Amino acid sequence: MKAIVATPERRADVVEKEIRPLKHGEALLKMICCGVCHTDLHVKNADFGDVSGIVLGHEGIGEVIEVADDVTSLKVGDRSSVAWFFEGCGHCEYCTTGRETLCREVKNAGYTADGGMAEYCIVTADYSVKVPEGLDSAPASSITCAGVTCYKAIKEANLIPGQWIVISGLGGLGNLAVQYAKKVFNLKVIGVDINEKQLEFAKESGADLVINPLNEDVEAVIQEKVGGAHGAVVTAVARTAFNQAVGSVRAGATIVAVGLPPESMDLSIPRLVLDGISVKGSLVGTRQDLAEAFQAGAEGKVVPTCQLRPMEDIEDIFEEMEQGKIKGRMVIEF
Ligand SMILES: [Zn+2]
Ligand SMILES: [Zn+2]
Repeated sequence: MKAIVATPERRADVVEKEIRPLKHGEALLKMICCGVCHTDLHVKNADFGDVSGIVLGHEGIGEVIEVADDVTSLKVGDRSSVAWFFEGCGHCEYCTTGRETLCREVKNAGYTADGGMAEYCIVTADYSVKVPEGLDSAPASSITCAGVTCYKAIKEANLIPGQWIVISGLGGLGNLAVQYAKKVFNLKVIGVDINEKQLEFAKESGADLVINPLNEDVEAVIQEKVGGAHGAVVTAVARTAFNQAVGSVRAGATIVAVGLPPESMDLSIPRLVLDGISVKGSLVGTRQDLAEAFQAGAEGKVVPTCQLRPMEDIEDIFEEMEQGKIKGRMVIEF
């Protein structure tokens, strides 16, 4: 089969690779498509360590064409996911308490397990989430990573319908966050980004208020117009966005960090204590979160913007990503 692998030279090459026979509990997917994520770029560039030889991709959707004898959760003909949360140990304190993405023995597709950027992919059947009827494979691939990440992050903010949420950073992730916040959680949404095009896109997706920090004082505007937001999800990769979120929320608010700038954020201890501010990190989502995120897609509440590309475009896609030229999600079609 053809597969996109990370090379020691930090390239992503299309190579020929053998597919091994299935072991107990596994299913073989004939891949339909696989989205390209910023995380793939980090893996390819060895930013998380050298994993050369691994098949990239953790936003994969494939059709089940074979299952091991003991598999009951998937059957031939199902469409199913290849997600960043590829597999947990199943028995640790995290796996048994609904926090399986924190498992210390976790395997991640396209990083510590061969991923979905290939013509075929072997998954652990019980950890691959079935795509519901009515959800096309390309949008499902975007929900497998970006969608579920946003969905889970908003869930972590613990808000009730009608409350205000700040979505900071409106790229591929943030735009989906706006849609989930608006259409699934029924929140009032404030979109923040320095890119006018992304702000426009967020407005079209239902944001009630959009703010460009280059033109306006984000914290002052939000405090003045809505009395501070009840929660914030920060997908931006700039430290300033995190600090702005702290200044944009009201007492009792929860700030959920999703973006990964390498620095620390500023939060004064008196603000934390006296205003009861919570700060949480949120990492992708569990299998159940993904099933719920898929369902919102199947019901047409969330519509990822995707563009289909051939395998051979992979290096071009990474280049466009590095140059910030991408709107929506790039999805490789097999
Ligand atoms: Zn991803
Ligand atoms: Zn575990």
